[in-house]
Order: sequence, then C-alpha cells, then structure tokens
Amino acid sequence: MQRNLDDAPIVVIGGGLAGLAAALDLAQGGRRTLLFERRSFAGGKAFSFTDPQHDVVLDNGQHLTMRCCTAFDGFLRRIGLREIVRYQRALNVRVIDPGSGMGSNIASLGAPFPAPLHLAWSIFNYRHLDLLARARIGRAVWAMRGIGEAERRELDRRSFEEWLRGHGQTGRVIERFWDLIILPTCNDSSANVSAAQAVQVCQTGFLRHPRAADIGLFRRGLGEVADTALARVRAAGAEARLGERVERIELVEGRATAVHTGGGERVAVSGVVLALPPQQALAVLPAELRLREPFWRLAQFTTSPIVNVHLKWSAPIMRRDFAAVLDPNVQFIFNRSRLHGWSGPEQWVTCSLSGAHEAIELAQEEIVARAQSGLRRALRRAREAEVLAARVVKESEATFRPAPGILAHRVGARTPIANLALAGAWTDTGWPATMESAVRSGQAAAAAMLATT
Ligand SMILES: Cc1cc2nc3c(=O)[nH]c(=O)nc-3n(C[C@H](O)[C@H](O)[C@H](O)COP(=O)(O)OP(=O)(O)OC[C@H]3O[C@@H](n4cnc5c(N)ncnc54)[C@H](O)[C@@H]3O)c2cc1C
Repeated sequence: MQRNLDDAPIVVIGGGLAGLAAALDLAQGGRRTLLFERRSFAGGKAFSFTDPQHDVVLDNGQHLTMRCCTAFDGFLRRIGLREIVRYQRALNVRVIDPGSGMGSNIASLGAPFPAPLHLAWSIFNYRHLDLLARARIGRAVWAMRGIGEAERRELDRRSFEEWLRGHGQTGRVIERFWDLIILPTCNDSSANVSAAQAVQVCQTGFLRHPRAADIGLFRRGLGEVADTALARVRAAGAEARLGERVERIELVEGRATAVHTGGGERVAVSGVVLALPPQQALAVLPAELRLREPFWRLAQFTTSPIVNVHLKWSAPIMRRDFAAVLDPNVQFIFNRSRLHGWSGPEQWVTCSLSGAHEAIELAQEEIVARAQSGLRRALRRAREAEVLAARVVKESEATFRPAPGILAHRVGARTPIANLALAGAWTDTGWPATMESAVRSGQAAAAAMLATT
C-alpha cells in the first residue's frame, strides 16, 4: 500500500541491479517510487541481446554466482526467478593446461569436511603445480584464515600479489592458482587488486563454509533477471521510465528537491537513490557537492574491462558446463548450448576474459583468432570442428577496479544529504563488483531512504 499518492516520489536513478533492488524495497515499503533508466531496457551491466544474424540470445557477458551470494539469491527468490540459476552440488572447476594437455579439478569434498579442509584434497592433487608449490598454497590459506576484519582493512594499501609473495607464493603459483580465483571475482589480476578485497573473496568463498563457493550458472539469458525484477517493481506500484536519463539533481538548502531529465522535465522528489557507477553519479550530482566529503571520493575509482567471445562451433567441443583454461586468451569457457538446453549439432561456447586490458585494445578478428586457437590447444574436439559464427562483446568499463587503496573511497549508502542515498556495486558493501554487491547496495540505499524520508 502506498502511503500517500500525492507525495513527491522517491526517484531511483539507474535501472541496473542496484537500482532495481532499491526500487523494489521502496515500492514494497509503501513509498511512491519513480525509476529512471537511460537505456530502453533495465539490467545495466547484466543484460542479454538477440544476435539477429544467428537468432540466438547472448549475454553481454557470461555471469555466474556462488552460493555465498545470499543477497542476490534472496533477490531472485523475491522476484520469483530462483530457478534460473542451477547450483553445483559441490564446487568443481576443471582447470585445463593447454601446454601439457592435462586437466585437474579444484573440487570440494563437500559439507562433511569443514572449510578449508574441504579443498585440501584437490589442492594436494592439483597437477598444474609441483608438490612444493601446492604446500605453499596451504601455507597462504592457513595465514588467511586467521585474518580478522580490522586486520583485513589494514591490508588495503597492498596488492594481493605483494601479500601472496610475503607468504611464500611464487609468480607461477599466483598465475596458475590464485589468479584463477581473483581474476573472475575481482576482474583483475592479483598484482592490481587490493589484498583486503582478495582476502574478503577468499575468506567468504572458501574459508568459512564448505558450500559457499558452489557455482551457480544461469539456465536462460541473463536479461530475464532485470526484466522480471522490473515487472515486480511495477507490480509493487512503482513507475519506471525507460529510455530517459537524469541530467542533474537539484539541491536546495541541503536537500534534494528535484531531478532534471534529458527531456528537459523537472520532477519534484522527496528523495533520491543515485544508483549509477561512480563517474556517472558524479556527473548528475550538483557541482557544489562534487568536491565535498564523501562525494569527491567517487572520482578516485578506475575501471577494469571484460571481453566475451561467443563462438558457434560446427560440432560439440566440450561436455562440461564450464572449465578454466590456463591461457590468457581463453580464461573461462562456458558451454552455452548445454547450460541453456539448446539442441542441435552445433555448440555455442563463450570465452570470458576478465581484467582484459590487452584484449580490449585488439581488433575483434584478432580476439576471435586467439580464442579459437587457444580452445584448439586446450580441447581435442575443437581441433576437428569449425567456427561457424563469432560475436565479441567488449565492456571497457565492466566493473570498478578494486585497486589497492580503494576501500577508503567506497562510501556507504547514507550521505550528508539526508534524502540522497548512494547505491551501486562500487559502494561500501565489502564485496567486489558483483550482482551480489549491486543488490546489497540497493537494499542498503532503500533502507536509508525508508529511515530518513
Ligand atoms: C561482462 C561482465 C561480466 C560480469 N560478470 C559477473 C559475474 O559473473 N558475476 C557477478 O556477480 N557480476 C558480474 N559482473 C558485474 C555485475 O554485472 C555488476 O557488478 C552489476 O550488474 C552492477 O550493477 P549496478 O546496478 O551497480 O550498476 P549498472 O549495472 O552499471 O547500472 C547502472 C544503470 O544506470 C543507467 N544510467 C547511467 N546513467 C544514467 C542516467 N544519467 N540516468 C538514468 N540512468 C542512467 C545505466 O544505463 C545502467 O543501466 C559482470 C559485469 C560485466 C560487464
């Protein structure tokens, strides 16, 4: 039930997962809610599109979740879409070394073994490193286990690579083990990621609960998440205006009073949830706020790219749902045909390249050629199959980069302007740029609004 339909609305700026999560809570909390999204569809960094040439639904980037992403999982439940994700019964990642042709699994022994012992067996048997190197991993895991919250925050000034080297890890161990975890979760390599952020990921995913890292894969296009969430937001009574950007927020005597749209309209507000990436958020903030605490901090963020290579093969080249490949041109491969239950003799496979600073600069043909030859080296069946179609999606500002020193700049939902809250995967959720972080941030911003307006 809405409190008072004549109240000026709380405006949510941005229809990514953060904005959608905020709008859902506000509307269900009885507030008149109005969401603006500049594009003609919601979803932000997580969307699907139809490739008209091949009549296939692809995602801008392959997304996965993990069982420890409880806010995102709860959000899917609330919008009635929990079944779109299929979780592994226990973590199991096949890691292929194209150089040796060998595969080895990073796999959990399951719940009877307390974390981190559930992973001990597979690390002990990890064939891509020698025995001494595997023992070194154990040493770092043990050290990480004892790090408390305060100590972890202290680590933010250092890169994870520095921390790892200080705990006996060599370049080879970092490249062939630690970066398999850090690249896809933090979207950069250990050398570029804050030790505090990397330790948060490892502790949450691997050291607290034996099921936490079970991987969840989407059975259908990712766009369905935003479409369904948007429908729920509207069903809860909110208005959502797609294809309309907000140009600026108007501030009078320390309160947000209105937003001005790209179409020249002034919309009076009772509050604003600003759910945009940092640089875009800065652009709509009133000039007088941009240099003030905490808003100046938004200018301190940098971004990291992701490149996805969707390839249609003439015959199946892999049986598993996904695998990791120790080749920077391939990284993680997803069997889209199997995940989405597509039948037919061909197979769509997606290579997801995180921290793709080099690939983002390359021509599409070169990216495809490199991925294709990497896959042929890694997978025997790919040597006998042809690539029938290829589609490259470059996301140059895919995520914020959790670089050393960034923690201090990740501001919370509440701001000194009582009726202006911040949301977005980059805010102070503790998580790297993930769907989990976006949902948590949106919910925190809505809670701040519900408490203050
Ligand atoms: C290729 C790729 C792969 C990824 N893989 C994973 C993964 O496997 N697992 C995972 O958990 N996360 C992954 N992520 C990260 C995840 O998608 C993001 O962290 C999350 O979606 C960010 O949501 P957000 O709402 O904070 O921001 P955004 O998604 O950036 O939403 C901001 C929205 O605001 C809109 N907007 C901008 N300016 C204005 C304006 N002036 N007025 C109105 N609207 C405006 C934008 O169009 C956008 O829709 C991936 C991201 C990418 C790009």
